[in-house]
Amino acid sequence: MKIAGTEIKKGQTKKINLAIAKLTSGTKIDIPVVVSRGISDGPVLLLMAGLHGDEINSVDVVRRILDEKINHVENGTVICIPILNIFGFINYSREVPDGKDVNRSFPGFSKGSLASQIAYHLTKTILPHCDYIIDFHTGGKSRFNAAQIRAVLTDEKSAELALAFNAPFTLHSNLISQSLRETASEKDKTIIVFEGGESLRFDQKVTEIALSGVKKILNFLNMADYAENINPSKTFHNRKWLRAPVSGFFHPSIKVGDKVKFKQTLGSICGPLGDYHKSCNCPKNGYVITLNNNPVVNRGDAIIQVAYDA
Ligand SMILES: [Zn+2]
Repeated sequence: MKIAGTEIKKGQTKKINLAIAKLTSGTKIDIPVVVSRGISDGPVLLLMAGLHGDEINSVDVVRRILDEKINHVENGTVICIPILNIFGFINYSREVPDGKDVNRSFPGFSKGSLASQIAYHLTKTILPHCDYIIDFHTGGKSRFNAAQIRAVLTDEKSAELALAFNAPFTLHSNLISQSLRETASEKDKTIIVFEGGESLRFDQKVTEIALSGVKKILNFLNMADYAENINPSKTFHNRKWLRAPVSGFFHPSIKVGDKVKFKQTLGSICGPLGDYHKSCNCPKNGYVITLNNNPVVNRGDAIIQVAYDA
């Protein structure tokens, strides 16, 4: 196997620096890629994070995989990219410096915007080697996501991989135009997205679930030997946001992961002068999969997301 000019032989682990661009100061920026080949042939699995630069917990998940050598498999190859969007990462930002989202810039273009260039390097240099991809994310903008896998569940191979990961929640999610998932699917790669926690914060519980899911995938793909899991994932095909009925101070009364009922009070919003209280009622029978941790909300803000089945 040869990636960006570096040969990786069976049983070897190598770090490759993908040169992508320069900072405005002239400093070269590389995307570090760690490739670990087992001693026998098998599938190639890409574990990547930091497509959104401020989703640090996802970066920490891939860091733990490297640290604990979970990427050292017997069969096949694991490619780890802990921080894809280096520019966003060093700026504590979801996007690259011009405000573009790398995950809306696929398949990318070598002479395109910075986001497009990052997408291009992943599409051209890494994706052709991969059979399976797990893209790790967290909730954005103070929104805490329950640990969950998102995938096109109507696609048999994606659904199989999603359920093998066995996160607490498995959610159907359509492909978004110009996303990594769309490009990878067009190239016949099986891709699932892990979401858990929130941007710019660590959450050890979420990380442990992610690591356990990766081990289950390695087991499922016959790349390494780990114990099977017994708790089945809760699968849902629909999601609905509850929006703030008024502006004010938001006090949720539920936790992420809670089972909730239609019309149940999930929290309240009060005025800063103590002049009004408005309860926030559940839109569906289901489970809370995202909670907005922002204490002050405007009317119409997405505050709680519920996963449900019709
Ligand atoms: Zn993300």
